[in-house]
Amino acid sequence: MNVVALAGGTGGAKLAAGIQAVAGAGLTVIANTGDDIETLGVHVSPDPDLCTYWLTDQIDEERGWGIRDDAFNVFERLVELGAPEWFGLSDRDLATCLERRRRLDAGERLTAVTSGLARSLGAEATVLPMCDEPVRTRVRTDAGWRDFQEYLIQDHAEPAIEEVEFAGAAEAEVTAEVRDALAAADVIVVGPSNPVISIGPILAVPGLSEAIAGAPAPVVAVSPFVAGEVVKGPTDKFMRAVGREPTAAGVAAAYAGVVDGLVVDAADPDPDPAVEGLATARFDTLMEGAAGRRRVAEETLAFAATLRN
Ligand code: GDP
Repeated sequence: MNVVALAGGTGGAKLAAGIQAVAGAGLTVIANTGDDIETLGVHVSPDPDLCTYWLTDQIDEERGWGIRDDAFNVFERLVELGAPEWFGLSDRDLATCLERRRRLDAGERLTAVTSGLARSLGAEATVLPMCDEPVRTRVRTDAGWRDFQEYLIQDHAEPAIEEVEFAGAAEAEVTAEVRDALAAADVIVVGPSNPVISIGPILAVPGLSEAIAGAPAPVVAVSPFVAGEVVKGPTDKFMRAVGREPTAAGVAAAYAGVVDGLVVDAADPDPDPAVEGLATARFDTLMEGAAGRRRVAEETLAFAATLRN
């Protein structure tokens, strides 16, 4: 079975790991690169790397980012030498980013680099960036435009959000790899990631939502709201900032015209989102442990199968 999953670095990445347990090499992840940043002399690609670390069981689950049991020796020495200290990377994570920088400098496309790094680290699934061109999520606050990582880490995602933009998105193009994966998919899953800043940049690549909607496969999204609450991160805040309700209904509205079905958490306090033509399924969507991730993946794929015609 061929499955394409759209993902950020947490909810979507966890579901991708669950789908990989079912579909193995049949899974292709299309990951958000709007959070990418050049720092410490390397190219950091947080969401694709988090997907890879989830897929290869290296993720520091407790912290929610980076590699488990990894030290920060190189970073600590860099800071001692005068490097900026606000964006930390553990040793093996830094190695991923150094190797990415080397291959990009040698002229490889980001798609080849990202998928190659994931494969080298043992992912069965294919990990693709949403595009090869740089797209950067930026947030406008009362202090002006902030790069996404500055807003998240330096500002602790505290200032009110006045506007969100995906700089460079208009110049981006759907890659052949993304197009082929969507065309060959039996199921397309929009993971339970932040709809605004994790899935939003992916759908902002010109032609990408059309390629999804035009693919023969059913498209299902999983709501990132569990029992009506965000599990982790500023999803609520970003939904409100773009004028959407931070609820399953808000998620349904954000994906109108792109998805055929929406998975809503069984304990979600809201009634089923009343979006015309949208099928819904309700089950427990909290992914606890490998078994939980696999269960949510299986139920999501089973729901998608009911939408296939
Ligand atoms: P980021 O790039 O690290 O911000 O991660 P994502 O955008 O991929 O994921 C953030 C979203 O994942 C949050 O809205 C969480 O509510 C959601 N999330 C995390 N764990 C789970 C889970 O087990 N189930 C569901 N349904 N959502 C989850």
